[in-house]
Amino acid sequence: MAGRYGVDQFSRFLSFVALALIVLNLFFRSSVLWILGIAVLVLTYVRMFSKNFEKRRKENERYLQLKYKLTSGFRNWNDRRKQSRDYVFFRCPSCHAMLRVPRGKGKIRVTCRKCGNAFEKKT
Ligand SMILES: [Zn+2]
Repeated sequence: MAGRYGVDQFSRFLSFVALALIVLNLFFRSSVLWILGIAVLVLTYVRMFSKNFEKRRKENERYLQLKYKLTSGFRNWNDRRKQSRDYVFFRCPSCHAMLRVPRGKGKIRVTCRKCGNAFEKKT
């Protein structure tokens, strides 16, 4: 593997997709799934043995950015879920920014950090 690009996050993802397609093919017996699975697998190996580091690095970066965008909704929701015992989450009525205040403080005056709108909220 000297001088070759090797494995990155994108190729790990691709090999997982290839495996999933090939396993799905075992149940559905579809030649489309099989061909797609093999094509993705071939692409994975082409990337791993590539000498064009710059291009592969950019592909991986695009993959990571897309993955980050696609999972940010879940990540934010999960963060809020973990903190929900100590904090109350709600949206600002004027700019809809997500706000967090400590739980159990009674009626408090909240000032939105994004737009400066102030309002009262029960916690
Ligand atoms: Zn606001």
